[in-house]
Amino acid sequence: MHRAKPQALDATRFEQALQLLSQSGRDAPAGAPGSGPWMAELIDALVDLSSRDALTGLSNRRAFEVALAREVDRVARSGESVLLLTLDIDHFKKVNDTWGHPAGDQVIKAVSRALLDCVRPMDLVARVGGEEFAIILPNCAVTFGETVAERVRRRVEGMPIALSAVAGMAQAPAIQVTVSLGGAFAPQWVRSTPSLWQERADQQLYQAKAQGRNLVCLEPTTVSIVSTEEKRLLFETFQSQDHE
Ligand code: GH3
Ligand code: MG
Ligand code: MG
Repeated sequence: MHRAKPQALDATRFEQALQLLSQSGRDAPAGAPGSGPWMAELIDALVDLSSRDALTGLSNRRAFEVALAREVDRVARSGESVLLLTLDIDHFKKVNDTWGHPAGDQVIKAVSRALLDCVRPMDLVARVGGEEFAIILPNCAVTFGETVAERVRRRVEGMPIALSAVAGMAQAPAIQVTVSLGGAFAPQWVRSTPSLWQERADQQLYQAKAQGRNLVCLEPTTVSIVSTEEKRLLFETFQSQDHE
């Protein structure tokens, strides 16, 4: 039987990997190069690098989509209440047009830091597009959704952003921006899809923009009562699927 020969790991590949880590400001793995612990650390660092957005250090779209799919699966099994927020900076084109693209980048970074400040360590904050973000909040009670989203909106609204090194200006100006937020909870005890869930949150974001921006719009929630017996039936379905 013909077997493909495993490709030799040559030094150039390691060099490239180490260069990527160094460019992103990460340390080289500790220990003897090529050893087991060294390789494990290198792989961990590369996985981390490939799941982060280069500008902000937040999770990137790919990592967000993986996390969202995981949550869809978890919610269907556990019935936990999970909120998805999608955010977009208001009139961001004007920031770029007025202050320049590098200043726009500074604003994106400042908003990213503000978002991280507003959430718990277990929440996932991602940059999913140019000036678009998403936050997954596991274990977030339905009654708490509005509070969290409002906290984020107010935090950004009240934050002066000092722009450094704007061409032609002796003094760094400080500007303020706002964000619009849309949100939707995952349907509990029901198997949804990441794209359907995201569509519902985006729909609310669209509403927030249409209603004037600097606003929060959350999809109205309906509390569904599921009996213990129904939950058991659902788990049995999953378990039989898992064994197929
Ligand atoms: P709206 O309130 O409707 O969201 O208006 P807007 O001006 O923010 O409109 P839109 O979302 O369409 O504009 C996004 C702009 O963001 C367009 C693009 O040039 C800019 N942009 C996208 N990525 C980046 C980036 O990485 N850095 C900078 N500085 N600008 C970016
Ligand atoms: Mg946008
Ligand atoms: Mg925008």
